[in-house]
Amino acid sequence: MSKQRHVAVVGAGAFGGWTALHLRRRGARVTLVDAWGPGNSRASSGGETRVIRATYGPRGIYTHLTARALRLWKEHERRWQRKLYHPIGVLWLVEGDDAYEKAALPLLKEAGLTFEELSGAETARRACAAVLEGFLAEGGEYRQLAAEPGARLAEGELRGVKLSDGATLVADAFVFACGPWLGRLFPDVIGDRVRATRQEVFFFGTPPGDQRFTEQALPVWADHGRGFIYGIPGNEWRGFKVADDTRGPTFDPTTGERLPTPEVLQAAREYLAFRFPGLKGAPLVEARVCQYENSPDEHFIIDRHPAATNVWLVGGGSGHGFKHGPAVGELVAKLVLTGEAAPPEFRLSRFDAGVRPGG
Ligand SMILES: Cc1cc2nc3c(=O)[nH]c(=O)nc-3n(C[C@H](O)[C@H](O)[C@H](O)COP(=O)(O)OP(=O)(O)OC[C@H]3O[C@@H](n4cnc5c(N)ncnc54)[C@H](O)[C@@H]3O)c2cc1C
Repeated sequence: MSKQRHVAVVGAGAFGGWTALHLRRRGARVTLVDAWGPGNSRASSGGETRVIRATYGPRGIYTHLTARALRLWKEHERRWQRKLYHPIGVLWLVEGDDAYEKAALPLLKEAGLTFEELSGAETARRACAAVLEGFLAEGGEYRQLAAEPGARLAEGELRGVKLSDGATLVADAFVFACGPWLGRLFPDVIGDRVRATRQEVFFFGTPPGDQRFTEQALPVWADHGRGFIYGIPGNEWRGFKVADDTRGPTFDPTTGERLPTPEVLQAAREYLAFRFPGLKGAPLVEARVCQYENSPDEHFIIDRHPAATNVWLVGGGSGHGFKHGPAVGELVAKLVLTGEAAPPEFRLSRFDAGVRPGG
């Protein structure tokens, strides 16, 4: 009988939480560690709502990953008896060049996604907590501590990670799914390859009793015009969410203050007045400052550490990772336990070779 493998997963966000759960299901002993908790307010997975879209231009790997993730989101919603996914559709607006959207259409068909079904919004931070609960219920172990890989490399393997309570967590394999912190933990291998940018999200108040801006009346919308502005109605009564996908300035996810800036708010107001005249002059009722964890080409990073065969680095969600959590976790669990190589699109070597994945 083969010995049960012990895998430590650092980071309980969308990528790490699902990876831990899938590793557990594949029979590994799993310890999940997070410094601040699943979907905490500093994490990229923090926040209330995230969009599921399968429209990725010609990049079939993400369309198929979304299709798989959507099946897993629905399956787990049933399994855990809680509402995580709101199937309200997405209204995708295009101005001028629609090559990106056109290229996605055959891939959507190929992935078995009907256009009406492909998008929705989920409660993001609650979904991370639900994954943790599911993981614990299936025998996983969770510790709310910070972990550092340190310099404990021996014979091409990492022996253990140092925890913030002074203990060392020893395991056979390690997954670091540390979102915007991945570069700080691995300055040599990741460094600036995961760059956190400040992203502001605004929730505007709708007129009293006005049902037009609720999720019953309006889909998610994505305006791929001069830039890429998107929004989500409803948000559990937080207001009408508006966000600009343009990358903001570099941001420190640990120490950064999360107050919105007047200029970005003003731009959101102007956009709102233009596209949703009924909300012209609407008051701001909530705002959040989150961060994207961008890789240089905005594709995920899923690969083995080049100097440690038992260490996996998972991140670079680049503002679009959340929806993929269930399918990324499934993939990473398989790679860790079988030793298979990651898909070339996600490997670190693409940066060395200057190869752009996708297509
Ligand atoms: C405003 C905004 C809107 C977005 N909208 C969408 C969307 O609509 N659809 C979509 O699919 N995606 C969206 N994204 C992107 C998506 O949310 C992220 O790509 C995804 O959540 C990243 O998950 P992650 O697990 O890699 O990182 P995180 O959620 O940041 O998780 C990393 C975890 O690691 C922990 N950690 C870090 N370092 C350590 C350490 N040393 N020790 C212990 N724990 C540690 C942190 O506490 C954290 O919980 C959006 C992101 C933002 C900011």
